[in-house]
Amino acid sequence: MDAQAWQELLDHLACGVVLFDAEDRLVLCNADFRRLYPALAGELEPGIRFEDIVRRAVARGLVPEAAGREEPWIAERLREHAEPAGAIVRRMPDGRWRRIVEMRLADGSLLAFSFDITDQVVKAEQAERALAQARLASERLDDAIAALPAGFELWDADERLVTCNAELAHLYPAIADLLQPGASWEALVRANHARGGLPVPAAELDAYIARRRAERRAAQQPTTQTTADGRWIRTIERPTRDGGLVAVRVDITEQRAQRAAAEAATARLHEAIEALPDGFALYDADDRLVVCNARYREIYAASAAAMTTGMRFEDMLRYGLAQGQYPQAAGREAEWLAERLHLHRNPGSPHLQQLPGNRWLRIDERRTRDGGIAGVRTEVTELVRREQQLVELNAQLDAARARLEEVSETDALTGIANRRHFDRRLTEEWSRLARHGTPFALLLADVDHFKRYNDRHGHLSGDRCLRRVAQALLACARRPTDLVARYGGEEFVVLLPHTTPDAAATQALRLLGVVDDLRLPHGDSPVAPFVTLSIGGACARPGHPEGPEALLQAADRALYRAKAAGRHRVEFDGSETAGGGGIGPAGRPGLAGRAGRKRPAARQARTVHWTVRVRARP
Ligand code: GH3
Ligand code: MG
Ligand code: MG
Repeated sequence: MDAQAWQELLDHLACGVVLFDAEDRLVLCNADFRRLYPALAGELEPGIRFEDIVRRAVARGLVPEAAGREEPWIAERLREHAEPAGAIVRRMPDGRWRRIVEMRLADGSLLAFSFDITDQVVKAEQAERALAQARLASERLDDAIAALPAGFELWDADERLVTCNAELAHLYPAIADLLQPGASWEALVRANHARGGLPVPAAELDAYIARRRAERRAAQQPTTQTTADGRWIRTIERPTRDGGLVAVRVDITEQRAQRAAAEAATARLHEAIEALPDGFALYDADDRLVVCNARYREIYAASAAAMTTGMRFEDMLRYGLAQGQYPQAAGREAEWLAERLHLHRNPGSPHLQQLPGNRWLRIDERRTRDGGIAGVRTEVTELVRREQQLVELNAQLDAARARLEEVSETDALTGIANRRHFDRRLTEEWSRLARHGTPFALLLADVDHFKRYNDRHGHLSGDRCLRRVAQALLACARRPTDLVARYGGEEFVVLLPHTTPDAAATQALRLLGVVDDLRLPHGDSPVAPFVTLSIGGACARPGHPEGPEALLQAADRALYRAKAAGRHRVEFDGSETAGGGGIGPAGRPGLAGRAGRKRPAARQARTVHWTVRVRARP
């Protein structure tokens, strides 16, 4: 084979081939080698020295890794070349990678091959990157498992621990040291039991392990385990694809305690509500029944069937209405319902509600903080009945008082006899006069300017004054049969049985005097600076033709005259029947008598009038 044929053969090789002689001059190279350095291709003639090729390549920027450190790189390359030590990998100017193998031949010449290994290098780089990513992911997973606020375990198909986190050791402190990869699940359970971490009687341990194993295999529902120190652990177990098991455990002691406390509080509240002597119901913000006690059902027995949790208040009312539970609604159901709902939704002060059988409830409803309504029903039938009785009793009492007043003969203000008493006595005296001819006298005494007294001193003072005057007049009565009575307002009447006109006039004067002597100040009387009386008198004689009424009128007329004549005096209007002994005018010290005027024509024939005027003492 000639050189030409050799060259052709070399040029067909898919690797770079180059041969330098012992003096390091180029002997031959193939096409692939030339393609590596196209910029030098024309200069790669036999005889050119290796160092010149390297220097030219560096000078023309064909060696990327030499950039910036050209001389040191050239020196290094020449050293390698002088003593080749296996393969080197180099990045070519076109960015591809070559593996270069240089070897010294026996004659001192140097043969070099170079292969394009770009694909391998790229794959190796990709593999490395993938590996780094996998490592990172694995580290992250480890970190995540370690940071889990729950115990984590991974078991293989043979129930051996693959990995777990530190939290698991906290949950099972008795076997913390045994939680190592490779540990058998059953061995761990038995060790936990032996070290007092598993509160299961020794005799039941096998059964416990069997049950737990079955649970782990089924791995459907979370399970709960207790620990020796009274904690509760909730475990969620799931099978893995390779037949193993992954488990997450959480300490739920706290939540259980809170839930238990909440349940206990609710139970206590229900007990308390049930223990209430009153009916109690709670409605939510949508007015639906939350809870009510047995007493509430008992009170509204007719609606009890409708009292289910969630029932609307209005629907319950309608149900009760249909059962005729609310007598107050009879005949006006719609209005009653509207009123009741209004009261319920705008709770204020308590109100009464009637139930069948004249039973009564007191309803006290309040809004709760969450917009619901809490209501209390108290049975007040007894109270309402008593009140009804009380109202009745009061009415009876009023009637009795009225009757009593009717039959009473005492004047409430002054305590002396009243008009009724006087009327009875007058009738009696009149019949005595008619039967036995016993005469009697009548004095009407009236306080002077008493209206002014009231206006000046006040009505209460007026009352006090009337009491003083009454008592003074009463004290003045001499005989037990004499009667001093309040005739009305500020008028008094004195009935003097068996009394002659003279004696009556004397008595009238005495009455005038005792009231004067009281010296009750009167700030607005033109008569005297103290309270005074005017008195009109009349005497009844046997054979008197008219009734007691006429006698009173006669006294009243005399009184009128006393007033008209200036007050603070006594006037008598005497009358006598024809044939009877008349009362003549009486003159006495201090008394100024004068003949009476004639009465109107109708009575003139039978009646003679006379008047005694009595001057008051100075
Ligand atoms: P006269 O001298 O003409 O009798 O004048 P008067 O103001 O006393 O007579 P009048 O009939 O005008 O007024 C009577 C007054 O007596 C008016 C009335 O208020 C008063 N009065 C009647 N009853 C009572 C009473 O029980 N208590 C008091 N404080 N005043 C009474
Ligand atoms: Mg009067
Ligand atoms: Mg008067």
